[in-house]
Amino acid sequence: MLIDSHAHLDSERYAEDRAEMLRRAAQAGVGAVLSIGIGDGPSQMHQALDICRRFNGQPGLPKLYASAGVYPHNTTELDDAALAKLEGLLAEPEVIACGEIGLDYYYEGAPHEVQREGLIRQLEVAAAWKRPILIHCRPKDGITDAWDDLFEILEGHWRQTSLGGVMHCFSGDLEQAQHALDLGFLLSLAGNLTFAKAQPLRDVTAQLPLDSLLVETDAPWLAPVPHRGQRNEPAWVAQTAAVLAGLLGVEEEEIAAATTKNFLRLFHLQPDVGN
Ligand SMILES: [Zn+2]
Repeated sequence: MLIDSHAHLDSERYAEDRAEMLRRAAQAGVGAVLSIGIGDGPSQMHQALDICRRFNGQPGLPKLYASAGVYPHNTTELDDAALAKLEGLLAEPEVIACGEIGLDYYYEGAPHEVQREGLIRQLEVAAAWKRPILIHCRPKDGITDAWDDLFEILEGHWRQTSLGGVMHCFSGDLEQAQHALDLGFLLSLAGNLTFAKAQPLRDVTAQLPLDSLLVETDAPWLAPVPHRGQRNEPAWVAQTAAVLAGLLGVEEEEIAAATTKNFLRLFHLQPDVGN
């Protein structure tokens, strides 16, 4: 059984076929999906939880979990009301993580200082509710600015919680991977692992311990080869898992078992996934 540890199930792109999309995931062996609650901003943070509640308990679908958080470029909207809403969501049992939060210096959006402040304030809320965090970190091409700022913040505001988290869609280098592991994080690999130009990421990944890894789709984005360019969906996490198996020289079943075990360990969940 596979777990898709990061999918935006609330995307409008699933408006027509969300139930069928989830059914295809279950048929592909996906037993659970972590539905990311960022929406297009804080006003939509609750949508992932709503989807969990709507579909959980229906036979033939994966078990759904939710997160809640304010995406780096939406931190300009992180006022007291948004923080209060985030607290309320993290208090819900299905909301197992705070995210995706972090730093994105690749695209122009919220000023870097606003992103850093927004991240720190959300770390405080996540710590209060003892929720691991889901980190989005994207530097400008060829430099490490966002990673450097991220690790400085996590060293100062997160390490001492021992709650850990997930480096979502990990695409850093080996040094960044090792720093993240030292902070108690898991590294989640997405469909970009399968892209032709991703040899540097595959080289790093081949050196990572299997007990530190997760797989994800980041659906509806980042569809893996051979679906590249299409709307992604949780069923296709299997393609990324297959490439990972090849890199680590193990059977696909071993990737599925290990990444499932890692997910359950990080979030302190019982292995009763699936409906
Ligand atoms: Zn995402």
